[in-house]
Amino acid sequence: MSNVKSAIIVGGGIGGLVTALKLHRVGVSVRVFESVETIKALGVGINLLPHAVRVLTELGLADELEKTGLPTAELIYVNKFGQKIWQEPRGINAGYRWPQYSIHRGRLQMLLLKAVKAQLGEQAVFTGHHLHSFQMFGETVVANFENRKTGKRLGSYSADIMIAADGIHSTVRKFYYPEEGHPKFSGRILWRGITEFTPFLTGSSMIMAGYQDRKFVAYPVCPDTAANGRSLMNWIAELTVGDEMPSRADWNKKIDKEKFASAFAAWDFGWLNVPKLIEETEAVYEFPMVDRDPLPQWTFGRVTLLGDAAHPMYPIGSNGASQAILDADALGQAILEHQNPEAALKAYEDLRLEPTANIVLTNRKNGPEVVMQIVEERSPKPFENLYDVISQQELEDIANKYKKIAGFDRQTLNSK
Ligand SMILES: Cc1cc2nc3c(=O)[nH]c(=O)nc-3n(C[C@H](O)[C@H](O)[C@H](O)COP(=O)(O)OP(=O)(O)OC[C@H]3O[C@@H](n4cnc5c(N)ncnc54)[C@H](O)[C@@H]3O)c2cc1C
Repeated sequence: MSNVKSAIIVGGGIGGLVTALKLHRVGVSVRVFESVETIKALGVGINLLPHAVRVLTELGLADELEKTGLPTAELIYVNKFGQKIWQEPRGINAGYRWPQYSIHRGRLQMLLLKAVKAQLGEQAVFTGHHLHSFQMFGETVVANFENRKTGKRLGSYSADIMIAADGIHSTVRKFYYPEEGHPKFSGRILWRGITEFTPFLTGSSMIMAGYQDRKFVAYPVCPDTAANGRSLMNWIAELTVGDEMPSRADWNKKIDKEKFASAFAAWDFGWLNVPKLIEETEAVYEFPMVDRDPLPQWTFGRVTLLGDAAHPMYPIGSNGASQAILDADALGQAILEHQNPEAALKAYEDLRLEPTANIVLTNRKNGPEVVMQIVEERSPKPFENLYDVISQQELEDIANKYKKIAGFDRQTLNSK
């Protein structure tokens, strides 16, 4: 039986909330402290890979997920002319025991928040509490909070352990790595939007078009279609802009789409009209594609990092939220298996640090999307026959290698 009786979780994002549910399951008394005053359904679409859906299913969320997300049927890479490079079934269609979901990030967060409040009680979630500082005294961690807006001190809370799920600008990470500075800019910007639009291909297909310096991603994120047959479509336009980061990495920064739309003006593939999709979207958000170097250590005594605080990565391969969920699962398991709290947090780090570091580094080389770049370099004009440009074997090898690195190759996962 573990000696971890209580935990403070810093951050009520995807990672923090799933960790709260998981630790509650293994008998830990949990309090979640979130910086923002009111948790709103912010963000656009994200994907949950089958291994993360497995964890959420074990936490009793399968029905809610089914109501909120759309099972992704297939993933397709095309070149900038809309010619198919790679197509693979996803989730249940690919033989996994769990679906892959395309889902609105904010709706997922609200679903998790509702579950946390229902299972742990309303009083387990403290909003408007920004972690200001913390100390470790023997067997206790004391966390001090403030109101971010007013700067007013809000008091201190103690627990056996503290989990920092406070995102890419983590206060706790900064405490342990004060020299690290800002996230690392890739030279690429992501513009994200969501709007009702005519479904394309299977109606639950995820497509990625283009190549490293100019890319467009689109997929529907909601199981319901509107009366006019349209579905809620998520999209991301991506361009290489140079080394200078234009703004701080802020998920909610709205911009004028004229900034990038002309780069995609010719991308009407027939089955998907990219310029029209951009044009019909009201709000567009800008986010510089950033990550941070993998860390040598996440756990410091009774404090550890989780999710983006531990391993922010490029949003390639649908891994951001999924890896935070896997962290939560591994942490809960480690607490069950280790009596000593410090040993439990260390065991969690041992399980998760290396695999996530590998994903961070692989994503810097475009992860599985490298096939799009290879095709662009070998054939900048429309091709007559794909296999004159890249062989089926090369395509398969790249896709399978990434699934192993990201921990969702089918055989391994299904045997769990
Ligand atoms: C508002 C928002 C919108 C996003 N939109 C997208 C999107 O559209 N697409 C995408 O791919 N990813 C998006 N992300 C990132 C995505 O959620 C994460 O990459 C992934 O889910 C990992 O989750 P996480 O819990 O580690 O981090 P996050 O989901 O970023 O959660 C971190 C949480 O910690 C809180 N926090 C930060 N500092 C403190 C502090 N000192 N004290 C207390 N709380 C603190 C933040 O307010 C936030 O709620 C978004 C994140 C946020 C916060």
